[in-house]
Amino acid sequence: MAHWPPLFYSAPLEIVAGEGRELMAADGRRYLDFYGGVAVNLLGYADPELDKAVSEQMASGVVHCSTFYLHRKQVELAEAVAARSGIPDAAVFFTTSGSEAVEAALLAVREFRGAERVLAVEGSYHGRTLGALACTGQPAWQGRVRNPFPVTFLDERRDLSAEVGDDVAALIAEPVQGVAGAVPLARGRLRGYQDVLAPAGVPLVVDEVQTGWGRTGRWWGYEWHDVRPDVIVFAKGLGGGFTIGGVVGRREILDALPMPSISTFGGGPLAAAAGLRVVQAVEERGLVAHAGRLGRLLAHELGRRLGDRARVQGQGLLLGIAFHDAAGEPDAALAAAVHEECRHRGLLVGLGGTAGNCLRLMPPLTLTEEEARCGTELLVAAVATCS
Ligand code: PMP
Repeated sequence: MAHWPPLFYSAPLEIVAGEGRELMAADGRRYLDFYGGVAVNLLGYADPELDKAVSEQMASGVVHCSTFYLHRKQVELAEAVAARSGIPDAAVFFTTSGSEAVEAALLAVREFRGAERVLAVEGSYHGRTLGALACTGQPAWQGRVRNPFPVTFLDERRDLSAEVGDDVAALIAEPVQGVAGAVPLARGRLRGYQDVLAPAGVPLVVDEVQTGWGRTGRWWGYEWHDVRPDVIVFAKGLGGGFTIGGVVGRREILDALPMPSISTFGGGPLAAAAGLRVVQAVEERGLVAHAGRLGRLLAHELGRRLGDRARVQGQGLLLGIAFHDAAGEPDAALAAAVHEECRHRGLLVGLGGTAGNCLRLMPPLTLTEEEARCGTELLVAAVATCS
């Protein structure tokens, strides 16, 4: 097969259709989806309102025009994102993906500060383009080539004040480290960072690619941390499956970009129509509070029933299950076995974590309580089979 990369399961899983929180495979089986397209499908599959918004846009004949013309849906989406950003007089631009958004945010803060060093966090994941990868604090993703610019990775113990100087463009952090296995940053850590950064004029960039749009039980993940970011990077869930990402930030930081174009396809009419519908649906259907409530239910039930070799972590509907062996060491083999067993039982989950020992759960925010309970039963049974 020419297709790359190799896929996670021992036998390929070919998806042919979706409805609600279920995916249908070519083998005729239905799967309950607790992976949500890696935190993308906020409204699940075949959502009638999302379908209508995108179909109407398609029918208008304009699926792409130019980022140099005004397109009403894109303007409205920018307003909606800015209004919810918590950043006064915010400006917004759109990209096609999370990596591209991280990259553009890095360009902006570098220009704004006239500096190139970036502070990032151990265990982070920011994407696979060179700049985003350089800020990714996981050796397994980094590979063996040298970074294109200096990055200092912070752990819990590192004193930030020793690092902040005129050579620093920004600090970038995820409120919950998704790829690392849904690990929330410790309470007070981001706040502590901002207390040092703000007086030095160094922007705080929060990467909300996984945590945005209500997933953690608040609109943004940063809201759990009592901080005011200067720049927010977003993607994934906003399009509900359509490719969109972007940056919302203090206007003077975005204005520092030397040329006004970011991305040919960024915020194109189809993606903007989808994004606008998703933002409205999340609000109209009360999905932020719903994600918080169902996340607590899931975390509680799984924590209670999975046994002492599985630790449940995360926030809202961004959860991880970290497996350890009897000696307390990360158990990647057990995680992989449970991942496969879940599929066998009709449940799709993600696999990851810095030590490869985590299952990752990020179902659509439209998950029902019944589906949450059903997924819990399947997970409990899968862990029991593999332990
Ligand atoms: N930032 C975070 C926090 C992510 O989880 C990801 C994707 N997993 C990215 C950035 C990169 O996004 P994309 O894959 O859309 O380029």
